Amino acid sequence: MYNKKWLKNYSTKAFEDKYTYQGNDLGLTICKDHLCFKLWSPYALRVNLNIYETGDYNKNDLITSFEMVKEEKGVFTGKTSKDYVGKYYTYTVYFEDEQVNEFCDPYARSGGINGKRGMIINLKETNPKGWDKDVNPNKDLDVCDTVIYELHIRDFSADIRSGIKNTGKYLGLTESGTSLDGKGDISTGIDYIKELGVTHIHFLPIYDYGFLDESEAYNRDKYNWGYDPVNYNMPEGSYCTNPRDGMCRVKELKEMIKSLHDNGISVIMDVVYNHTFDEEFPFNKAVPGYFYRIDKNGNYSNGSACGNDTASERSMVSKFIVDSVEYWAKEYHIDGFRFDLVGLIDVETINRIQEKVDALDRGIFLYGEGWMLDTKPTKRGVVLANQKNINHLNDFAMFNDGLRDALKGSVFDKKEKGYISGNKKYTKEVRKSVTGLPKWSRRPADVVNYTSCHDNYTLYDKIQMGNPDITRENAIKENKLAAAIVTLSEGILLLHAGEEILREKINDKGEYVSDSVWSSDDVNEIKWENLLKNDVKEVYDYYKGLIAFRKAHPSIRFHNKNDVDKNIEFIDDNDNYLIAYTIKEGKNNIVIAYNSSKRAKNMKLNVDKLLIYVNEKKAGTDVIESISSNNGVVKVPACSCLVGIYKNK
Ligand code: CA
Repeated sequence: MYNKKWLKNYSTKAFEDKYTYQGNDLGLTICKDHLCFKLWSPYALRVNLNIYETGDYNKNDLITSFEMVKEEKGVFTGKTSKDYVGKYYTYTVYFEDEQVNEFCDPYARSGGINGKRGMIINLKETNPKGWDKDVNPNKDLDVCDTVIYELHIRDFSADIRSGIKNTGKYLGLTESGTSLDGKGDISTGIDYIKELGVTHIHFLPIYDYGFLDESEAYNRDKYNWGYDPVNYNMPEGSYCTNPRDGMCRVKELKEMIKSLHDNGISVIMDVVYNHTFDEEFPFNKAVPGYFYRIDKNGNYSNGSACGNDTASERSMVSKFIVDSVEYWAKEYHIDGFRFDLVGLIDVETINRIQEKVDALDRGIFLYGEGWMLDTKPTKRGVVLANQKNINHLNDFAMFNDGLRDALKGSVFDKKEKGYISGNKKYTKEVRKSVTGLPKWSRRPADVVNYTSCHDNYTLYDKIQMGNPDITRENAIKENKLAAAIVTLSEGILLLHAGEEILREKINDKGEYVSDSVWSSDDVNEIKWENLLKNDVKEVYDYYKGLIAFRKAHPSIRFHNKNDVDKNIEFIDDNDNYLIAYTIKEGKNNIVIAYNSSKRAKNMKLNVDKLLIYVNEKKAGTDVIESISSNNGVVKVPACSCLVGIYKNK
């Protein structure tokens, strides 16, 4: 229960004028000869700073506690000696209704077990060697030039055959030269990802989340994606080797990022500002009810389906989110941010974040789930960052769920087939998306194309769900067709880790798992042994070849709509199964054709010499064969992709 008077005030202009704090020093600042702590808690009567020996909240090891001083704008300040660096701290806030809350600093940079106590950390001591020279290795790439690989820290190295020593940890991403069973012939881990052609790894949440108990030993059956934020500015402890030591999670995450950068791979972080794990969330303990969309009668807005939508339209929530993103970008050298359910966040907050990251000039880009969600902002006229409102955003890309569902069938209907399985209902949608211009977008750079991600069934599982009798050979054909479409479409490319080796998520009952958020490592891990199968190796090579082809041709990476309009021309724009078009590229024309029918199709194209780079079997930057038209047509085999290049006449 929250104080109703406060709930009524929070979104008023009077409250915001009186209490919006602009300073950049909330949380802990290490000054020359003292430590400074600042907490924003406008309705607190008084606040105590508590300093503890350890980060273990079960230990009764308080060193000292003293009252902080109330200053302007609802900020409380405490100053202490620098001797406490390395210790842990909390705040205790006393309110008029006899409510007393003790909690971790919402701005805490690190903490002990389960992030219950913040750490008084000197961040400079956490930097790996060479950190000051560390840069985004792909800074100069346009967003459409990137190849994004969506990965969970644990999925990457949980498989005992991975040859990776640091199972399920940040450090697993620092190991190079790993191979299947450590035998040396089949690369796994980072070497594998590099060979595939990935430029950016997008990690599922790496901030401190709530589901796993960090005091417990690694357990293959206790697993989570991490969409349950506890401390937004602290790394998750279960991925480090010693979550009791607040230095460890910070150091090891930085080592991971440094190592990826050294390997030419940029790092994208999945951020979930739209809701919190629960209402024990530190900010909520400092300013009860302020962080959430709760109306004056105590009703919660629930567009996130997680029960507590974030009130990003409030000045100090907005500031908290902007500060947090800027902090990760600066302190951890993060190269991009993926916003979970960004359709719940207001466009002003997102544009402010954009300004901050642009000012860093490190090639950072932003994208997110711009779904239209039923949320109830606490102010009038709030514009939400969803697909419909993309015009209000300066530069922010959104997931193309239209293409995702068109390719493999709706994620809300497990039996439905998509275009790749010959469902002609979706042909038009695919045709729109290949140019990077689904209905809602302004330009290809607005659009993140994908066919699968951590949510829902994997691509290979969905193909089989839609057609239980399908042969392995045909399922692979359909998978390759989806891969070709998603990789060769205009826009931004995102691949679900393991999609390229037919990743499946099957539980011990033999069922496909749709949302594997609570499943074990057995279900979730990338199974590196797949690479031993010849047909899987072929699929992997196909993805790799498609990526190489994409990278070799700027005209399949147009940023702007103008270039699409000027250079792309459809050949058959009415067929139920055949999608075919040409793209001008200098003196050449690239022709791309997809046929989802069970029969071969004739594409109208009159050329003497068409050099083929992608067909149903192979893909890459080498010419597979040279063909010519027969009576003004070129044959596109059943369920396949054909890509060729011919010279302009
Ligand atoms: Ca945690």
